[in-house]
Amino acid sequence: KFITVEGGEGVGKSTNIDFMAALIEEQGYTVVRTREPGGTPMAERIRGLLLEHGEENLPDTAELLLFFAARTLNIENAIKPALAAGQWVLCDRFTDASRAYQGCGRGLDTDKIETLASWVHADVQPDLTVLLDAPPAIGMQRAQKRGAADRLESEHEAFYTRVRDGYLAIAAREPERFAVIDASRTLDEVQQQIGRAMGRFF
Ligand code: C5P
Repeated sequence: KFITVEGGEGVGKSTNIDFMAALIEEQGYTVVRTREPGGTPMAERIRGLLLEHGEENLPDTAELLLFFAARTLNIENAIKPALAAGQWVLCDRFTDASRAYQGCGRGLDTDKIETLASWVHADVQPDLTVLLDAPPAIGMQRAQKRGAADRLESEHEAFYTRVRDGYLAIAAREPERFAVIDASRTLDEVQQQIGRAMGRFF
């Protein structure tokens, strides 16, 4: 199975991915964890470029293409081999993040994003996408607490509101693939919701 986890800043992706990996292993499966951008040595280098591009302006189109270049490496060199070996794959972000961030957040042409998606991974689609949803103000507060504030300063609340609304719209179009989790609840309640969503596989 191929499972992706999505959401805005500070919604608890890392903690809940740990929880999901443990659930899968409890059932006796091997799970491979990967993340976007990243997941392979070359893709991690692209991640470095995206997160720290220094003084040089990063045009939105270049950003989108770098995300898809990293994604292609991750799919071909990490995700497909793991799935072929019968392992489960748990991926921190995937193409829905391009749809939400570059499409809805930055306003890039959604047709172009879909063209890239079908070019790069027509044959690899998530079996389940867990969307951790919370109002941007809550997530930003949490992210600031753990010292990730710098990264967030450049992108204001309006941007994160567009990203969140984008994610919710994508989820509404594909309700069978998505589990929308209310991430503003306590960790315990969030994990109960995730456990129920994953129950379909066990
Ligand atoms: O998953 P994580 O929060 O570590 O993502 C790193 C950064 O990349 C985030 O700040 C997110 O805003 C950004 N991002 C993006 N477009 C994507 C995926 C992530 O702008 N498609």
